[in-house]
Amino acid sequence: MARPPKPRRVEYMPEVTLFRPAGIPMRHLEEVVLSIEELEALRLKDLEGLEQEECAASMNVSRPTFQRVLTSSRYKVADALVNGKVLRVEGGHYRLAERRFRCRECRHEFAAPFGTGQRGIELHCPACKAQAVHRIDHGGHGYGRQPWGRRFEEPEEGR
Ligand SMILES: [Zn+2]
Repeated sequence: MARPPKPRRVEYMPEVTLFRPAGIPMRHLEEVVLSIEELEALRLKDLEGLEQEECAASMNVSRPTFQRVLTSSRYKVADALVNGKVLRVEGGHYRLAERRFRCRECRHEFAAPFGTGQRGIELHCPACKAQAVHRIDHGGHGYGRQPWGRRFEEPEEGR
């Protein structure tokens, strides 16, 4: 009955992935592992304050699935805080979203993960260093008059 879940779409990779209670040797501590997609669920819902529906759409999952991931992530964080456990963020079943850009000067195309250069404005072309890049989709097409369109690059997958 169980079918393999499709990867969750994630826009953010954490730089800090290990949190531990101070002053206690690691060997005496229990560990809680939060997956990358669980952190993404917390980030979207509790930090960005998005509606459940928007969160589910962003991660390309159904609302019940998003709710499950969110509940699990909140439980793990609470468990680590209340019971003084190590919290490690790693693994899971996800796919990092990235955006593509093209330089207006030299036509060089490159990809950057979500979150870097939020609107493309502060991005420099890696080839010629010009600060004149614009966002394109995966087919190499521009976004026309709305260069920073909100639609996702990846084709929508079936729910
Ligand atoms: Zn360039």
